[in-house]
Amino acid sequence: VASSASDEAVRGTCDDASQCKRYAVNKGYWKDPYIDHFVRQPKERKAPEISRGYYARVQGVGCLLKAFLEKTEYNCQIINLGAGMDTLFWKLKDENQLPRKYFEVDFPTIVTRKIHSIKSKPPLSRPIMESHSGESLLIDAHSLDSSRYAIVGADLRDLPKLEENLKKCNVDPQLPTLLMAECVLVYMTPECSAHLLKWVTEMFLTAMFINYEQVNMGDRFGQIMIENLQSRQCNLAGVEDCRSLETQKERFLLNGWETANAIDMVTVYNCLPPEDVRRVEALEFLDEKELLEQLMQHYCLCWATKDSHKLGRGPSPC
Ligand code: SAM
Repeated sequence: VASSASDEAVRGTCDDASQCKRYAVNKGYWKDPYIDHFVRQPKERKAPEISRGYYARVQGVGCLLKAFLEKTEYNCQIINLGAGMDTLFWKLKDENQLPRKYFEVDFPTIVTRKIHSIKSKPPLSRPIMESHSGESLLIDAHSLDSSRYAIVGADLRDLPKLEENLKKCNVDPQLPTLLMAECVLVYMTPECSAHLLKWVTEMFLTAMFINYEQVNMGDRFGQIMIENLQSRQCNLAGVEDCRSLETQKERFLLNGWETANAIDMVTVYNCLPPEDVRRVEALEFLDEKELLEQLMQHYCLCWATKDSHKLGRGPSPC
C-alpha cells in the first residue's frame, strides 16, 4: 500500500488525540499517570466541550471493554487497532485487569516512536518487564513482543502483512478477542475497512469489536467537521460509513458479524453515573451546552460480536 502525504497527516492525528486526552487528564476528568510520557503538553487550551467529549468516550469504551474482560474472565486478548499513543495497557496492568495478551497496531513510524518512549522511560518499560515471563523479550525499532504486551507496525489496509506480524507475536485465533478502533476506520476507504472487519471474523473464532468514531456526517455540522479535518490534509476516505448509526452497524452485519449496536455519544453521556457527571461538570464552566450536544451527536460508539453464543448478546454501556 503506497504511503502518501495524506497518510502522513493521518499519522499526525494520534498526537492530537493524545494531547486532548492529556489536557483533560490534567484538568482532572479522569486519571492516567502514563499519558504525560507519550505526548507533550498541548500549547493551546482545549475547549471544555472537547474534554467532556473525551471523558464520555473513555468511559463508554471502558465500560464495554470491562464487560468483555469479565465475560471472558480475562481469558482473552485485546487488539487495539490504530492505537497511537494509547495508554490502556498500562492502566489495565495497574488495575490488575490485563487480558492474557494485549496487542497494539499502528503505522511503523508511530510504533517506532512509541517503542522509543517505552525504552527510554522506566515507568513505561517496568510494567512490561513485570508482566513478562519466560524467554527474553523481543524488541527492535518496529516491534516489541513480551508475554503480555506486543506492539506491531503494520498498515491496516495490508491484511496479509498485518496477519503475519500478529502471528509473529503469537496471536491466538482460538482465544476470545476484543478488537478496538478509536477514530481509525474513518481514515480508510469503506472497501478497506470492510475487508478488515471481514478478516477479523475469518481469523478469530469468538470476537467483539468496539468502534468509536464520527457519525451523522451528512448534516451541516458534520460538513464543518469534515472540512476542518480536510484542511489539515487528512483524507476522510471512510466518511461514507459514518453517515448514520445504521451505516455504522450495517458494515459489521454485511461482513460476517452476528450482532451490531450503535449509539451516539449523547446517549452514552446521558447514561453515565450521575455522580460522575456532576463531578466532571463542576471542573470547568461550559457556557455552550448546545455545542457539546452537537459534538456528541456526531460521534458514536458501535460494538459488534461474532460467536454471540459464547459472548451473549454482548454488553451495553447503557
Ligand atoms: N486510537 C488512538 C486514540 O484514540 O488515542 C489514536 C487515534 S488517531 C485519531 C488515529 C490513529 O490511527 C493514528 O495513530 C494513525 O496512525 C492510525 N491509523 C490510521 N490509519 C491507519 C492504517 N491504515 N494503518 C495503521 N494505523 C492507522
